[in-house]
Amino acid sequence: MKINSYEIAYSEDELKDMIEHKMRQIHLIDRNFEGYKKLSDGDKKALEHLVAAAKMMNDVSLEQDHKLNRVMKRALENEAEGNTQAAYALRLFNSLNGVEGVNGVDEKPVEIFKGISGSMGRNFYPDDLTVHEFHEIISKMLDEGKKDEVQKILSARTMVRRKGDELHAIDYTEYFAPVFSEIANELEVAAHYTTDEKFKDFLGWQAQTLLQNNEDMDMLADKHWAVLQDNDLEFTIGRENYDDQLTQTIYNNPELMAKIQAAGIEINNKDMLGVRVGIVNHEGTKLIMRFKEHMNELAELMPYKDKYTQNVGKDSELKQTMVDVDLVALTGDYAQCRGAITTAQNLPNNDKLAVKTGGGRRNVYHRQVRQSVDMEKYKQILERMVVPELHQYFDVEADHLFVIGHENAHSLGPKAEYQNALGQYKNMIEEHKADVASIAFMPEYVKNGTISEEQLRKIYTTWVVYRLFMKAKPVFVMPHRMADLMQFNYLLENRAIWFDENDKLHINFDIFGKVMTKFLEETIAVQLSKSPKKAKEFVDRLTTWGKYSAKIAALHEELGLKPYIEIKSYF
Ligand SMILES: [Zn+2]
Repeated sequence: MKINSYEIAYSEDELKDMIEHKMRQIHLIDRNFEGYKKLSDGDKKALEHLVAAAKMMNDVSLEQDHKLNRVMKRALENEAEGNTQAAYALRLFNSLNGVEGVNGVDEKPVEIFKGISGSMGRNFYPDDLTVHEFHEIISKMLDEGKKDEVQKILSARTMVRRKGDELHAIDYTEYFAPVFSEIANELEVAAHYTTDEKFKDFLGWQAQTLLQNNEDMDMLADKHWAVLQDNDLEFTIGRENYDDQLTQTIYNNPELMAKIQAAGIEINNKDMLGVRVGIVNHEGTKLIMRFKEHMNELAELMPYKDKYTQNVGKDSELKQTMVDVDLVALTGDYAQCRGAITTAQNLPNNDKLAVKTGGGRRNVYHRQVRQSVDMEKYKQILERMVVPELHQYFDVEADHLFVIGHENAHSLGPKAEYQNALGQYKNMIEEHKADVASIAFMPEYVKNGTISEEQLRKIYTTWVVYRLFMKAKPVFVMPHRMADLMQFNYLLENRAIWFDENDKLHINFDIFGKVMTKFLEETIAVQLSKSPKKAKEFVDRLTTWGKYSAKIAALHEELGLKPYIEIKSYF
């Protein structure tokens, strides 16, 4: 059938198969949840307004992602009542939170409508703007001395449109002014009701970021947000820049880069916005805090630690808060379930002013996301491709410990200037570093009594089987998955893991820790090199899609692991 004159690309049967057999649900909490019942009346009222704000922000991200998202969603909603194909297509749309997106399994993006594709610059840029033309225009504008406008075009917080034969940048607070003002209202009402003073204060600043074209407001809001540790409510406007693939192409153009550097212009990918609302789980938070206690000792153990300034160290208090959160709402970027959904997120990222000016970070762990694992399927994977003596060590709570280590590791190692110098490899190498440091430092947590030797084996085994046994060959735009492949290959190459003649996984626990320590050294050396060429060589060398990866992916496919995710919200 046609929606707004676009044909739905999948038949009713195909959609039915995707929805009923290839989609898993993540249930967020409802009003019967214990943690909700325990909230003060004021916080309960505040929560309703925060959820309203979250829902509005979803429209913002839809607009940022694709120019046809909103109109196609509305049309699907209209048709869904009386038409099963449209109803299924709408569920697929809501899962991707857009007209198209990768599903983490197929190489090409899933496109719901014939004739509607995504573009490198999403809707941040005109969709007909090619890389070549983009560079040409920027170069010409610089030659004509239009430095300020170019700076705005290459900023994280603008939508870029054509203006004659040039480009023109519009700040988010202007482009999204009507909805931003409504969201700000909701935040101010929530601030009025909440019973926590620090949280109230933060909401006030956050509302201002939506009303003023002023990066300092974001900085102030971020700084008030990053110190929240003991309050009951959670509210975050996520600003991450992984979706925009166009801005960063400038790093590949040395001639243009030279001009941009001479003009003193900073290049940042565009921020995709999203909102997370939740209730802090104080029990889960305690466990996370036990890992934080040892961060300063880990900083001392980082490779080449004298060659760069540590974010954390024995003289500086770690500016990092951490909470475990029961989720009420995930919208916008958080709800773009394109092959994956985040289990934890440490913000602000390094490109943000708050971090550049010494502000801290806050790490939020997503309980309902990590608890939604398809255990039946993993039992079968263990049966088929892992030796029996390792089965006892597969435990998803051990994956949570790995994630805690990963998130903490973002605070260790060379800072933003080194990371950014790697150009289009910066996110991939940074995510990779966080993975490798997390695993490499786990033996330290055995030494300091936080975890047992048995838990260490569970962490290693679960990491390999749950994370590194990949569903499909990753593509460049999936930095986390590319990193997983690098790690799998490195472990094989160094015999920390191996497969026997029956294709069953073995782990050599005696050398696993040492191999990871060496891997961390090599990774930090790449960051310190500041060389995109070195990063490319490192990544290329370790991302071959080998025999065992292919076998594992085939097994995943045979077992029908579910690439689509549906977030069920009850507020
Ligand atoms: Zn990360």
